[in-house]
Amino acid sequence: MSSAFEAVTGSFEAAAERLNLELSLREAMATPTREVTVQVRVPMDGGGFKVYKGYRVQYNNARGPYKGGLRFHPNVSLDEIRCFAALMTWKTALMNIPFGGGKGGVQVDPKLLSEAELERLSRSFMRAIAEVIGPTVDVPAPDVNTTPQIMGWMADEYARRYGPNPAVITGKPIAFGGSLGRDSATGRGALFCVDHLVRARGLKRNEQTLAIDGYGNAGSWLAILAHDIGYTIVALSDSKGAIHNPKGLHPEKVLAHKHETGSVVGFEGADTISGDDIFGVDCTVFVPAALDESIKEDRAKQITAKIILEEANYPVTTEADAILADRGVTILPDILASGGGVAVSYLEWVQDLQREAWTEERVNARLEDIMEAATAGVLARADKEKATLREAAYLIGVERVAEAEVARGYR
Ligand code: GLU
Repeated sequence: MSSAFEAVTGSFEAAAERLNLELSLREAMATPTREVTVQVRVPMDGGGFKVYKGYRVQYNNARGPYKGGLRFHPNVSLDEIRCFAALMTWKTALMNIPFGGGKGGVQVDPKLLSEAELERLSRSFMRAIAEVIGPTVDVPAPDVNTTPQIMGWMADEYARRYGPNPAVITGKPIAFGGSLGRDSATGRGALFCVDHLVRARGLKRNEQTLAIDGYGNAGSWLAILAHDIGYTIVALSDSKGAIHNPKGLHPEKVLAHKHETGSVVGFEGADTISGDDIFGVDCTVFVPAALDESIKEDRAKQITAKIILEEANYPVTTEADAILADRGVTILPDILASGGGVAVSYLEWVQDLQREAWTEERVNARLEDIMEAATAGVLARADKEKATLREAAYLIGVERVAEAEVARGYR
């Protein structure tokens, strides 16, 4: 079994081979430009302090400043962050926004920290990476377990040292340079993506049933917006378990229940099933919206859906991908399906640089244009090259980065 980074590199290498890229260029694009490991010290409420490991990987900036989220999770490791930094590089290129790719995170379980400790952790991490990031250099954003409030603290910490500049980080609170529509952007973008495929195949929305593994920001927005336009949500899960109702769930009511009780589990009007069982639920679209590698071989065999919408980053391992491809399952790959978040991060950055605040309609319309163009491009390329959607997405992303590398020259 390959590591997460090796798997993503495998997709890159396959695209590079097909594009016939020169070897030295291939080598340059197969490794990160810079990797920073930092010590994050957090004074604890009860006295003393704890030390955590933090990372920022800057993978490639041929097309613009490094761009990508920061996650707070116990599983964070350099290999995992490197994998996501590479993914961000192909994702921003595929979205056709003027950024490169980066990723960062702290190896910590934020659920074990108080609000004050979380703020000190966020500020301490920002201090540790401040000298390698910046509005025209590397622009972080939210990711797993990181919120607009955390982005706000980090923007403020950066401002204490370098003066206020909201464009240093995206996904901030609206009151502090954030953009309308950023919060819902990953979910909305994923919906534009799958809806494009549904329309292209002449399928009916009201005959599509979605099972969504992960009910955080991305999963819950997707469920709410998809339900609004006629899709049926039959199952939802979070880290505590899953709920199922073949007749359909009301996503906003489930979210209210989750806010009240801390989990989707126990929602009235649905059967509670185990977190493992959601993978076998009868549905037409399965959405991994939680962590990486949630679908390995065993779960790939359980999935009944004909379409997988990868709202999380690297949710399907290489081995699982092969099993699903053999069964004719269409996978809308992560670098496409989850691109809505970074697309609106780009729009936030543009507004910050111009000191503008756009309406939500304007943001959503731009997001729709970006997702439509990216999805149509991937479907057309797959058709032309007899490739899977993942292969086609990598072909487009890798080709754009390679063109920028060649254009900027090597000396
Ligand atoms: N964390 C998100 C992603 O993986 C958003 C990154 C960003 O907005 O820069 O795409």
